[in-house]
Parts: sequence; C-alpha cells; structure tokens
Amino acid sequence: MLYQKPKGTRDIYGKELKRIEAVCNAARSFFVRNGYQEIRTPAFEMADLFIRSIGEHTDIVEKENYTFKAGKRVYMLRPEGTASVLRAIIENKIPLPRRFLYIEPMYRKERPQKGRYREFIQIGIELIGEDDPIYDAEMIEQGKRFLESVGASGFTIEVNSIGCPKCRSLYKKALKDFLRAKTNVLCSNCTVRLDKNFLRIFDCKEQKCQEIYDTAPKITDNLCANCTQHYATVKKFLAEFSIEFTENKKLVRGLDYYTRTVFEFKHQLLGARDTILAGGRYDLLMEELGGVNAPALGWAMGVDCVILSLPDEQPPLVQRKRFFIATIGEGLITETVELRNTIQKNDHVCIMGNPKDSVKRQLKKANRLQVDYTILYGEDEAKAKVCSMKDMESGEQKQVALKDFASFVKTI
Ligand code: ATP
Ligand code: MG
Repeated sequence: MLYQKPKGTRDIYGKELKRIEAVCNAARSFFVRNGYQEIRTPAFEMADLFIRSIGEHTDIVEKENYTFKAGKRVYMLRPEGTASVLRAIIENKIPLPRRFLYIEPMYRKERPQKGRYREFIQIGIELIGEDDPIYDAEMIEQGKRFLESVGASGFTIEVNSIGCPKCRSLYKKALKDFLRAKTNVLCSNCTVRLDKNFLRIFDCKEQKCQEIYDTAPKITDNLCANCTQHYATVKKFLAEFSIEFTENKKLVRGLDYYTRTVFEFKHQLLGARDTILAGGRYDLLMEELGGVNAPALGWAMGVDCVILSLPDEQPPLVQRKRFFIATIGEGLITETVELRNTIQKNDHVCIMGNPKDSVKRQLKKANRLQVDYTILYGEDEAKAKVCSMKDMESGEQKQVALKDFASFVKTI
C-alpha cells in the first residue's frame, strides 16, 4: 500500500456514514425547532484564538492541537466550537441574545480509543447573552431530550458549579493548604496543574490522586453568595424540567473558560472515556475575546459517542430504499428516466443500468450494488404498459401498471 490515512482518522461510507448523517440531521431538525440557528465557521483559525479561550495549560493546547504556519501566521485546526462561534459573533456584530448550533469536524491529536478519534464531528449549541439559571437547566434538558429522541438511553447527568474568579481565589488558598503536606504523593501532572490551573487537578485520571481529592475541600462548597444562589436555582429548575441528575463536586471540565454551572452526560457503554456530552457556562469568555460583556452557555457532544450509546439494532434514522432499473435497448430510455424520477421524488435511490448490456449482465450489476428492488422495463413490459419488479430480499416478483407506479412507490 502506497498511502495510508493518518492515525485516528477514518474513511466514512456505507452504514457508518448513514448513522452519522442520521444523528446530524436529527440534531439539525431538533435544535432548529428550539430556536437555534446553524453556523459554520472556518476549519482553522488563528491559533491564538483557541489558546486564549481554551487555556494554555489544557490537554488541547498543550498536546492535542494541530498547529501550522502558513506565511507569517500561525493557525490551528479547530479543536472545539465555542471560541469560533464567539469570534464570529464579535466579528460580524451579531446582536444578542442568540442561539447557535454547529455540526462540524474537530481536530485533536489524542490517543485513538473507543469513540475517540483525531478527526470527529461535534454537535454543539451555544446560547449567548443569557444569564438566568433557567437557561442552564434548559440547556441540560435539551441535551437529554435530543439524545432520547434518537434512541439513546441509560446515560446519567452530572452537574457541578465551579464558581467565578471571586470564589476561586479564596478557595485556591483552602485547597493549597489542604494539599501542602501531600504534594509529594500527587502525580507529576497534578503538581504542574496545581501551579498553573489548579481546578484541573480534579480531572486527573490517576486513582491515587483521586483518593486524595475525595477528602479535599471542593469549589462547590466554597462558592460566593451569588454563585451559591445561581447554582441552587439551576438545581431547582432542573427539578422543574423533570431532569434527574447527580451532583459531582469533582466535575471541573477540561477547558479553562467555564464559570459557574458545568455538566457532563455519561454512558457506561463508552468505556474509559465515558462522556457523551459536556458543557457549561462561560460568562467571561465574550469579553476575554474582545467582545461585549455577555454571559453565555453551551455544550458539545461527539457524534461517535452518541452512536456508541444507541442500541446496536437501531436502524439509521433515514431509511431510503435502493432501486436499480434495467432497460433493454435504447428505445425505452425516456420512459425509464421517468420511472427513475418518480422513485427519486419519493426520496429513494435509483440507479439506471446500461441499456446496451444484456438483461443478465444488468441484473448481476444490480446484485453487486446491493439494491433492495430491481425493475425490469423491456419491450414486453412497454407493450403491456407495466414494469416488472423484484424484491431482492424476498425474491418476490410482480408487475406494476405504469399508471399506478407513482402511487405504488409511495407505499414503499
Ligand atoms: P474529555 O475529558 O472527555 O476528553 P474534553 O474536555 O476533552 O473531555 P469536550 O471538548 O468538552 O471534551 O468534548 C465534548 C464531547 O465531545 C465529549 O464528551 C465527546 O463526546 C466529544 N469528544 C471529545 N473529544 C473527542 C474525540 N477525540 N473524538 C470523538 N469525540 C470527542
Ligand atoms: Mg479530551
């Protein structure tokens, strides 16, 4: 083999593509009905946009990004959607409040594993310009309702509040005091994080660190009065939206821009990396990126993670049938094209055979193309004003009168 695709990427076609498309289309129709408007942003941006918003000492910026230089500029392939959406709002002076949906590939150089790739599609929603806790609850509810609408079940929802800079500065001291005598037991990653991005120690995957953090003071118990009030109200609204959730005081998220509410949806079918959907509030990011002071919130889910959490037998949501039309001789092309158009008008797939080929050869091709139905339209059929149709799965054959063909296709 001369060339291979890069590690962690895929060639997507057939069933896998159908399932991905089905989830993306379902998301488009679900979120548009909820007032979200789709946005597409460039696949790469100035590297600095992502570094500044995600944070210098995060997995993405430290080791997972694809950065390249072109001319004098340094760009980064988009590793996530939020920073780009905010940049677009600021640059295009889009009035707030606003709801945006994106369905786009993201790029992260992480270790490929179940549901995790280096190029993957994220579906994300952002609600910019709203600070009321009712929207935190609504965001979580929308994620849950969407996942259920595509057939996912068995996931759990974890919620936490990581406060604002005011709560964090006081809490940081309490946490450091607690850890002072224990720093030699922490893993090297955590020792570094503690200095650079202290909340992220809770994100550590090492068991021995987690055992220490179990008894450490938590940001959730050290919120300022406003953040305490906000979090309490979010939980009250979640109950009113009938959302079951658990509070996870160690949930901090892997990106720097979050404030107050954070949440993750988890599913055990996913294995070690069990998060399907994750997000939260990022009230300071708009201003940080040079925009107006606007509170905001959002989440993203990996399409592959969603698919892994669906039952195996779940069919792709878009069910098109595949037809092949064999016609004999070049005299019947006009009518064959009409038959094909009727099939395609009903949103099915139809491929025409080559009329110069023998019936046998055309039927062989239909088999290779794995169609659901083969239609034969030759001289005899033309004379009788019918077409012969074969259901390739059951082998059943019948004739359909041309005048009834359109209504017949509708019943398939
Ligand atoms: P994690 O610690 O789970 O990697 P993160 O902070 O890196 O989380 P986010 O950017 O918040 O991840 O990702 C939101 C969602 O996007 C994840 O829950 C997951 O469904 C999906 N996702 C993230 N990285 C990948 C990947 N490499 N491949 C496929 N999906 C991904
Ligand atoms: Mg990650």
